[in-house]
Amino acid sequence: MSNVIRIVVGEMATNCYLLESNNDIAIIDPGFEPEKIYQKLKELKGLAKYIINTHAHIDHIGANVRLKELTNAKILIHHRDAELLTQPSRNLGFFLGEPIALCKADQLLHEHDIIEIGDEKLEVIHTPGHTKGSICLVTKTFAFTGDTLFIDSIGRTDFPDGSEREILGSLRRLKELLTDNIAIYPGHGELGSFGKAKELNPFLNLE
Ligand SMILES: [Zn+2]
Ligand SMILES: [Zn+2]
Repeated sequence: MSNVIRIVVGEMATNCYLLESNNDIAIIDPGFEPEKIYQKLKELKGLAKYIINTHAHIDHIGANVRLKELTNAKILIHHRDAELLTQPSRNLGFFLGEPIALCKADQLLHEHDIIEIGDEKLEVIHTPGHTKGSICLVTKTFAFTGDTLFIDSIGRTDFPDGSEREILGSLRRLKELLTDNIAIYPGHGELGSFGKAKELNPFLNLE
C-alpha cells in the first residue's frame, strides 16, 4: 500500500507530493517552503530516499537544497533538465525577489528508468514541451504529471526551453499510455482521474 500526500507550496501554488510506500518516501517537486514539507514528512513513517523534480523550474526545485540538508535524500531529474537546475535565467529563478540556493542533481534520469519507492515502481516517461527534460512518473494506478498535464490545462510553452509542438506530442503519448481510471497528480491545480482530464482539458482533445 502506498500513500500520496499533497502539499501546496509558494505563491505559484505548486503541488508538492510525498509518496510513501513501505517505509520509503519520495519528495516530488519541492518548490518552496521546505520547513512545511519537512513537518509533513516527519509525520510519516519511513525515510526520504529521493527528491524527484518533474522538471527544473524554480517552483518545482526551490526547496531542493534545504530538504537535501534535512533528509540527505538524493536529487533526481531528467538529464535534459539537469543544466537548468543551477541556471536562474533558465529555471526562472531570476523572477524571484531574492536569489535562492541551487544545487546539482545526484542522479540523472532517462526514459523508462524505474524508481523504486517501497512497493511502488515509478516509470520515467520523458514528456518534453514545457521544458526539454520534463517527465511524468507513472505507475499502474497513478501518475505525477508535473507541468506537462493539469486536469483542465497544460503548462506554458513560451519560456526559453518550451515547445508547443513537443508538448502536444507528449500529450498524445500520455493518451496512449494512461487509462481513464489512473489518478493524476499534476504540478498545479486540482487532482482528478485521467478520464476527468479528458473531459475537461481541451488540449487532450485536439485533432
Ligand atoms: Zn514549470
Ligand atoms: Zn510549475
